Order: sequence, then C-alpha cells, then structure tokens
Amino acid sequence: MKQWIIFLLLFSVSFAFADDWQTFYEKSDFKETPRYEETIRYCKKLAEASPYVEYQTFGVSPQGRKLPLLVVNKNGLFTAAAVRETDQAVFYIQAGIHSGEIDGKDAGLMLIRDLVIHNKYPHLLDHVTILFNPIFSVDGHERFGPYNRANQNGPAEMGWRVTAQNLNLNRDYLKADTPEMQAMLRLYNEWLPEFFADCHVTDGADYQYAVTYKIELHGIQNAGIIDWTRQNYLPPLQQKMQASGFPIIEYVSFRTAHDPQSGMATWATPPRLSDGYTAIQNRPGLLIETHMFKDYKTRVTGTYEILKHTLEILNTEYKVLKQTIADADRLTASAAFRDKPLTVVYKPSPDSTMIDFLGFEYEKIKSDVSGGDWYRFHSDKPKTFRIPFFNKMEPDIKVNLPEAYIIPVEWRQVINRLKWHGIHFVRLKKAITITVDSYKFRDISWAKSPYEGRQTVSFKLEPLTEKRTFPAGSALIDMNQRTAKVIANILEPQARDSFVYWGFFNAVFERKEYVESYVMEEYARMMLASDAELKSEFETKFKSDSTFAKSPGAILMWFYRHSPYWDKKMNVYPVGKITEREAVETLF
Ligand SMILES: [Zn+2]
Repeated sequence: MKQWIIFLLLFSVSFAFADDWQTFYEKSDFKETPRYEETIRYCKKLAEASPYVEYQTFGVSPQGRKLPLLVVNKNGLFTAAAVRETDQAVFYIQAGIHSGEIDGKDAGLMLIRDLVIHNKYPHLLDHVTILFNPIFSVDGHERFGPYNRANQNGPAEMGWRVTAQNLNLNRDYLKADTPEMQAMLRLYNEWLPEFFADCHVTDGADYQYAVTYKIELHGIQNAGIIDWTRQNYLPPLQQKMQASGFPIIEYVSFRTAHDPQSGMATWATPPRLSDGYTAIQNRPGLLIETHMFKDYKTRVTGTYEILKHTLEILNTEYKVLKQTIADADRLTASAAFRDKPLTVVYKPSPDSTMIDFLGFEYEKIKSDVSGGDWYRFHSDKPKTFRIPFFNKMEPDIKVNLPEAYIIPVEWRQVINRLKWHGIHFVRLKKAITITVDSYKFRDISWAKSPYEGRQTVSFKLEPLTEKRTFPAGSALIDMNQRTAKVIANILEPQARDSFVYWGFFNAVFERKEYVESYVMEEYARMMLASDAELKSEFETKFKSDSTFAKSPGAILMWFYRHSPYWDKKMNVYPVGKITEREAVETLF
C-alpha cells in the first residue's frame, strides 16, 4: 500500500513536472503557436530554471519590441568573448525571420527545454553553445491572424511575412536597412557562429518531403567549407533524418513552376539572404524549409529533428569545422586570394544529375476559371519520379580585387554599414591625392517599381583609372582581412547585392548643373572654330546619326558634354580601388 502511495506520488510529481514545462504549442494539442509575450515568458522561465541558459536581448524593433535571444552553454558562459576562449562551436538557430513561418520557434523552445530541463540529450551541449532567436521579425509576428499564409496548413493563427516597415528581413542581410537587421549583424559579427540555421516554411508544389533544405554548395562559399558540408555534414544529416522518418532533399524549385517532370534547379544564393550572407562570411548557413501542406505538428517535429541532428553532428565535428573555418578566414585575408579574380555572379550550368524525387501523382488541367494550367496534386498517391537536377553553377561575372578600397567620407550610409558587417577600416587623417581604379557607368536604367523600399539600378561598366583627391575622414578598407568577400560584395558594382544595385549611389546618376541653350549656341560655335579634331568628330556624328542630326537638344548636349563645364563626376563611381600593396601601406 505504502509503495503504491509512493508510486502515485512520484507519478503525480513527474506528471506535474512534465506539465509545468509543456510549451504553449504542446498544450494546444500542437495546433497553436504562442504570441510574443508568451514566448518571452517561456524563454525567461527556462533561463531562471537552468544555470545553462541566459535570456538576453540584442536590439529593439521599430515598434519598440526587444529582440530576444537565449544563450545556452553548459559552463554558464554567456558572452562571445568567454565562449571564444573555449574550443566550443557556436550554433545559431533563427526562427521567425518570416514570422508567419514559425515552426522554428516552437521546435527550438522544445529542443532547449529537452536539453536543459529534461536532460534528454545529456551530451549535446558538451562541445556546442546554442544561440536561439525564437522570433526575429518581432513586429511582423504580432501582426497575428488566421489569414496570413494562404498556402499554409497551420498553426491556427500566425504572424506576417515582413516587418512593420513592410520590409523583408531575408532580403536585408547586406544592405541592412532595418533596425532588426542592423542589430542582427552586430550580434552575428560579435559571435561569428560556426553554424547558422534559419527556419522557414516553403511555398511551391506539393510533394512527400516535410523538410527540405538549402546550404551554399554552388556559389561563393569557401571550397574547404563546401567540402566539409558535402562530406561531413550532409551525409550523416540525410541518414539521421531518414531514420527519424523525415527524408530530406535540397530546396525544391522546378524549372517550370509546379511541374516536377521539368526537373529541379538550384542557384547560388546572393548575400541578401541568410544562407548567402553566411557564405560570404565563410560560415555554413542552413536554410530549413518545411512543407506548407504538412500539418503543424509534422512540420515542428521535422524542424526539431533537423536541429537536433545538426547539433549531434556539430558535437562530433566541432573541431574539424572550426579548423576549416579558420583556414577559410586565413585564405580570404591572404594575398593569394586577392591575386585571383572573384566571381560575384554565377549562372546555371547545363549539366544535371538524375535523382529520385518523392512526389505525388499530378495532372495538368486547363482551367475553366482562369484559363491557365492548373496543377492538381494527388497527395494520397505517392510517386517516385526520376528527374534531372540542374545542381551545378558556373562563374558568370568575375572582378579583379584591389589591395584596398577607398570610400570618400561623404558616403556615410555606406561607411556606417561596414562596421555592422564586422569590416575593419581606417579613416584618413588628412586629404590624399592618389591614382585609383574605378568605374564609369553607362546604359543606366532603374526598376519601374520599388523593391524592398529601394530603387534598384542596372547598368554597364567601363573601367577607369584616374587621380582623385579623397578628403580627410574617407574610409580606407584594406582587403587583407577575413571579410574580404563581404567587402567586395558590397563595393563591386556588378555583385548581385552591391550597394550600387540597391540604389545607395543613385545620386551620382543625376545631372545637377545646367546651361542655357542660347549660351551653348555661342559656345558651340567657339568650340568648332577652335578645335579642328572636335569639329570633324561632330561632323561624322552629324552625318551618321540622323536622329541626332534632327535634335537641337541632343546637339547642344553633345557640345556641353565635350566642354570643360560638364560634370566629370556624373555617372562615375565615387569608390576607388587601390591596386598596389605599397600604396596601401603608405596610407596606414
Ligand atoms: Zn521564409
């Protein structure tokens, strides 16, 4: 009898204990996700109960919400500096960058609870420190409702894709316009996590996989890290996920939308996105995409499993990965790296590999409503398709790297952002005049509608070498540093996410001084009379270009452009490239 009482007591204690630590999501029978306040409450509760956890905040959103972070370390080390003294790897888990796609928050809270409260995986904190951001887009998360994700099967209500400023954080990594991203970049560059995971829910076609992923294997990632990812990370991950009942495949994007038999294609991720950004920082970044039609419980469980298995692999691989990253950082800062042209844009290779794709039977019907092709997937009829995967990329645009870049002091928005990206630079103490390489822009055109609140620009480039004077305070950025790929991606105009592309330099494309036509009429006559070479150039142009010959405005503009009054800085890139090491050394 007494034994029974003790058993019942123990049972009820352990039941109460388990119940006490149930998350909001578990209590809702796996159908709902908690709001911001409830999420923070649970995070703080974990931190109060466990010596392994500290609750921190790393910034404030435009609507005034704090950006939450749990630091999990079994030795109670909660700063980047303290953890860096140990041989642990840092694993950063980010949820809710698109806060309607919130699986990562509920998976991460359970995983940390299972690690530090239930001690379910006693050794998974031995060699890894976890940083967990349960909600990145905190304002977007509180635009809460049932109609935020038309394709998505749960939770009952969820947040919105973008921030309160209507900006997509997962396009903001390099340009860093949002306060959230500026805070994130400071955090990222303080910790420099060896492994980064960003949790999403995908849209697109229907298929069997509950979890898909992308990790940079094709683009600007360091070759040693690509080898580590291919050989040491992905094979055990695939095997472990399969064993957990979640077969995985690379991010699914068909060459013809929704049509598996057209074949799958991949791409080199640009640094506006998280996994492309960590690649230019020489660190692997995993994009986790659960499938929108799977129910919420399946998706959260799938996310939990891929995070847990990644943690297992990192506990085995931490030393190798840290060494691989240290080698990559050293290489990127070396003269050997700057000697070779850097690829800043990739294009798909025509090569493909045949793969088995776990899809569903489907049919393409001519719609009697829209008149378009209507793909109808039969999720009760699984089917394995043998399809080509176009999974190779080749260089498209390469640029020559300088020994240093120099940005005139007045381009403050650009210089400020360098700091957030962990880029070192010095300010010129006095003005200097120096010969630099740079670019002249032509065939400039602007996008018709804004993109991420900016007016993006496309153009052609001509190389330019000239003597320029840079004022005191201008930023001199030595490429002899581990962030050299970040610097080149910001400052090389042709890079996909260059600050020229994002419109930071749009003002240089504007003409700001004018001449009256009657003044130019006289001046043109004087030019023709005094310069025989110019006169013959004008006559050739006049004879060969009938549109020009019929346009008084174009003719006067031609003379203005050839006169000393023309603005020599218009359509010229203000940033200079210093190509001689010696020249750089003398400036420091
Ligand atoms: Zn997303």
